Amino acid sequence: MELGLTPQEREFRDQVRGFLTSALNADVVRRSRTGMHPPNEDDRRWWNRVLYEKGWAAPHWPVEYGGTGWTPVQNHIFEYECKMAGAPELRWQGLRLLGPVLYTYGSDAQKQRYLPAILKGEEMWAQGFSEPGAGSDLAALKTSAVLDGDHYIVNGQKLWTTEGQYCEQGFFLVRTEPGERPQAGISMMIIDMRSPGVTVRQIDMINGEGSTCEVFLDNVRVPAQNILGEPGNAWNQAKFLLSNERTSSADIHKARADLERIREIAAGEVHDGRPLLLDPVFIRKLAALRLEVEALEWSVLKVAHEAPSRHPIGACASVLKIRGSSLQQKLTELMVQALGQRSLRVYRRDEAYAEPAGDPLWPAYAPGVTADLMYLRACTIFGGAMEVQKNIIAKLAFGF
Ligand SMILES: Cc1cc2nc3c(=O)[nH]c(=O)nc-3n(C[C@H](O)[C@H](O)[C@H](O)COP(=O)(O)OP(=O)(O)OC[C@H]3O[C@@H](n4cnc5c(N)ncnc54)[C@H](O)[C@@H]3O)c2cc1C
Repeated sequence: MELGLTPQEREFRDQVRGFLTSALNADVVRRSRTGMHPPNEDDRRWWNRVLYEKGWAAPHWPVEYGGTGWTPVQNHIFEYECKMAGAPELRWQGLRLLGPVLYTYGSDAQKQRYLPAILKGEEMWAQGFSEPGAGSDLAALKTSAVLDGDHYIVNGQKLWTTEGQYCEQGFFLVRTEPGERPQAGISMMIIDMRSPGVTVRQIDMINGEGSTCEVFLDNVRVPAQNILGEPGNAWNQAKFLLSNERTSSADIHKARADLERIREIAAGEVHDGRPLLLDPVFIRKLAALRLEVEALEWSVLKVAHEAPSRHPIGACASVLKIRGSSLQQKLTELMVQALGQRSLRVYRRDEAYAEPAGDPLWPAYAPGVTADLMYLRACTIFGGAMEVQKNIIAKLAFGF
């Protein structure tokens, strides 16, 4: 692939920049740049709506379902510019995970019912896959759905459901029938989170925030038409969804934004009488990370170019997940090192969102850094743990 942007791509980038400058305001940008998890819910719903009205809520979707028809490079430019401008991060469970499953495997009625609401940001989605005892070994899941007339009766418990407390809908893996293998007999089912029998309990995380939940399903009645595809046949859908999740988990745009934030912190922090950014040891660390980010970025772009003709992209998705998640941890570690003793303060959400009052102990770049570092301890676990990704690579690439 050729390095650098073509004149048309530069023109496109300028058009995106112009739009972002006019559409975003300083308060929203300040809140989204803090790195708090979960991000501000009102901001992301508002931003989803703004992008929907512009026709840019889901550029990667096929045009017939509301996508833009942009090239992979244009999609990349768009996401990069959004991140650098400090736009709120859209909830990806609907747009990135369920959306592609719906338009690939869903019935016409399901597409018509759910895709427009995802695009508009009217309904937010929870991913109900993991359970106590079924994380890495997902096929061991026990949540059951038993057919009763034209409804299923669902019982079980899901765990680590990201931001489930904010969601109107969820896509759940449930066992609808016994299978000869653990992977058989599993169905993907849409459950309205407001249904009687659904209880969502927030889990408090190390960073002081509640970004995941437990979800209890107690005799929940779910219409039979809420199964996606053939009952008992969801394992391929789950693998398709997880490989999209792992490719996105590389989070290359955040990595780019983190590099800039590290530079900003290092320019503001003074060590031994000079800005940290002039310290040769520090510069070398930053340069090494920059090279890693560049290398990952080109790999992500290469996969994005080839993905439409190569689904499932299995081993590639796992490689990107491993590289991207370990890089995110290294970047936040360097960010905290740059911040030095100031990183000992863990800001509450309202403090992080407040406008800094000119206090030198509280520069604008400080809030949220430590919370981000703590949250990202989990990024080598969510979407499939690091060791499990290595097993997938060994199996798909080397055959053992
Ligand atoms: C912040 C966060 C958000 C999440 N969000 C969601 C969500 O929205 N929806 C959802 O469904 N799930 C979610 N998860 C769950 C996540 O997918 C699981 O935590 C993950 O798959 C690991 O499963 P587990 O926690 O059961 O750990 P386990 O599977 O018990 O693994 C424990 C350890 O054993 C290792 N291990 C397990 N099996 C093997 C093996 N075969 N070979 C080598 N090592 C192995 C693992 O690598 C890990 O280090 C989230 C998790 C976190 C932490």
